[in-house]
Amino acid sequence: MPGTDFTATREMFHLPEGVIYLDGNSLGPMPKAAAARVQRTVTGEWAEMLIGGWTRAGWMEQPARLGDRIGRLVGAEPGHVAVGDTLSVKIHQALSAALALRPGRRVILSDEGNFPSDLYVAQALIDALGQGHELRVVPPGEVAAHVTREVAVTLLTDVDYRTGRRHDMAALTRAAHEMGALTVWDLAHSAGALPVDLAGAGADFAAGCTYKYLNGGPGAPAFVYVAPRLAASARPALAGWLGHAAPFAFEPDYRPAPGAAGMRVGTPPVLGMAALEAALDVWDRVDMAEVRARSIELSELFIAGVEAACPMLELVSPRDPDRRGSQVAFRFGDGHAAMQALIARGVVGDFRAPDIMRFGLAPLYLDEADIRRAIDVMAEVMERRLWDRPEYHARAAVT
Ligand SMILES: *Cc1c(COP(=O)(O)O)cnc(C)c1O
Repeated sequence: MPGTDFTATREMFHLPEGVIYLDGNSLGPMPKAAAARVQRTVTGEWAEMLIGGWTRAGWMEQPARLGDRIGRLVGAEPGHVAVGDTLSVKIHQALSAALALRPGRRVILSDEGNFPSDLYVAQALIDALGQGHELRVVPPGEVAAHVTREVAVTLLTDVDYRTGRRHDMAALTRAAHEMGALTVWDLAHSAGALPVDLAGAGADFAAGCTYKYLNGGPGAPAFVYVAPRLAASARPALAGWLGHAAPFAFEPDYRPAPGAAGMRVGTPPVLGMAALEAALDVWDRVDMAEVRARSIELSELFIAGVEAACPMLELVSPRDPDRRGSQVAFRFGDGHAAMQALIARGVVGDFRAPDIMRFGLAPLYLDEADIRRAIDVMAEVMERRLWDRPEYHARAAVT
């Protein structure tokens, strides 16, 4: 949809007064339509239709319908994305299905920048399978060199959650396929952040969450993609009745629905999907190439301004915008306290241990004036060491 109106999209989000929100990469802000949409599902559908809502309100088909709307944003073929569960669960399913498709191989290849949950899922799956699989974790820049014929599957997060460093999905997928391996791509920091072309890259499996850049709300359900060519053969280790080819036949034996539909497990989270639907109404209006161009403009402005005003902060994101996602990270020894001081002044980013200050740039609701104000606040906090107060050194459970 070329001709994205960023003034209009900004109007579609609620942001608290005085807040410059640079944390949509952790939890996207609320689309204004979400409250009424959830209310309608509760009082108009649940209250009035009761169990009839599954058919009359289309709740049962919602995972596939929303999947297709997300699929457009990540370059998936229609019919091959399903929504539900959490990203960790979807990674488990995709990884287990990939391992089952490469029975003679024992290595899961990942990188040191991967999100811990993905690595924990792999470790626990290896234990559960008990077939001697090995999780091999290498530096992000060395993944291609480590794709050998021992590798069953690469398990990679496209955009590094800390540094924003981006892999070359097409090249790494090609390298994996040349060695006979499969790929699982985690799109947590890609979906809604930059154009993704799963079909064009030849990706085998992918999964992502919808509460970060996609603004689906806290705990919004995840999505999973299975390439069409694997639809008939992919079988996850975690199965449930709604992934069955005929759930209401109540057959005792599991017979998976093909592809992403077979990755459904149990009852869809209808209330959570209602909020996600309101967010996708915004995304339906935007062109990802234009979002990407705006994201780069804003990021470049932010990096230049922060580097000029705060020489004590060290850029840890790639300087080349093509190698970055839609977030920018700086290293600072007292980064946690500095971030608390910024948040207290309305500039909301987040902190990732041990010393990373992370900022997400989301063009749907941020413009140049926001970025300039954020830079001014950062300049003041850093120059005057305003972070060095006892109240900013206490740590909360969620950073
Ligand atoms: C945010 C994130 C997750 C979170 O998984 P959930 O199951 O939704 O909590 C997983 N992987 C990556 C790379 C993430 O950034």
